[in-house]
Amino acid sequence: GKSGRIGSMGELLVEFVCAEKDGRNLRASTYAGPFASGAPGIFIDQAARVGASTIFSGAVGDDAFGRVILDRFAAVGVSDALLKVAHGVPTGSAFVSYNSDGSRDFVFNIARSASARLPVGHAAVEALVSFGLDAFHISGSTLGDRKMATAALEICRALRSRGVAISFDPNVRKELLADPSYMDIVRALTDLAAFVLPSEEDAAVLFPGEAFEDFAPRLVAAGARCVVLKRGERGCIGMDAGGEVQSLGAHAVEVVDPTGAGDCFCATFVALSVAGNFPMREVLRRANAAGALAVGRLGPMEGNSSLSDIEAFLASRP
Ligand code: ATP
Ligand code: MG
Repeated sequence: GKSGRIGSMGELLVEFVCAEKDGRNLRASTYAGPFASGAPGIFIDQAARVGASTIFSGAVGDDAFGRVILDRFAAVGVSDALLKVAHGVPTGSAFVSYNSDGSRDFVFNIARSASARLPVGHAAVEALVSFGLDAFHISGSTLGDRKMATAALEICRALRSRGVAISFDPNVRKELLADPSYMDIVRALTDLAAFVLPSEEDAAVLFPGEAFEDFAPRLVAAGARCVVLKRGERGCIGMDAGGEVQSLGAHAVEVVDPTGAGDCFCATFVALSVAGNFPMREVLRRANAAGALAVGRLGPMEGNSSLSDIEAFLASRP
């Protein structure tokens, strides 16, 4: 079948995962890593794995951690035309420690790392347009830094005006809700997006008091092509531009590491949607399976999957 052309931009990180729970990054412990990470990085890796032609705008430092990320992108064929090696700053990093209640504690090194040195402006937009993008994805995780948020919105506005569909996973950061300029950008990207892909937590913030059946038709009427609500262990529900609704339960799987399930789901959904080989129901089934596969592996993108992995998983399920 046909394959789509997908881009993204944002923070590139290596992640270290604490082997013990409830240490809150305060206790000396064993950490596994470096794993290539950053929500938009997880997204583009998965989009490439399910067959999209991919390009990513971002930066790493001139160090071993940067190599981990560049090697990973090279292995799946992400174009390096907008990947920059920034000198004088380290590659971005995150240390994550899980708690028994399912919450996560992070120590981030993003804003003062290479992560924040995004290729921006006219040249970046032209390079993305000339790649022939079908869709360009932003994760809300990129919007915590004012400079990166402004750059993301500017690039999306420019791409949108050149006919590129925008995909947005709000990944709302609760600690930033009080910052009006943060929420302005989150709302602006929601309004701009053809693919609106919130989690239940995101929807509770963006559409308070509204059920999917309330906000999805409104977004579709305003021009969205697909609205999907990611419901974690409860699965997902989607509506397409024709107003058709599909709801799927989650697969029963052992949760090893939930990080990245949302990004992996979004990438599968958007890449298969723009490729146009399946109706929404079949795209949603594959995204739902990709999310389930993602939670089963330790490491943010180690549970990413190819289309044949996904088909095999679905075939193994009743
Ligand atoms: P993230 O933490 O990466 O931001 P998210 O909140 O955006 O995640 P989730 O709803 O947690 O997104 O996960 C995305 C999709 O992955 C779900 O819609 C579902 O299809 C699948 N998924 C997530 N958690 C589980 C689980 N425990 N069991 C099975 N499937 C899951
Ligand atoms: Mg999410």
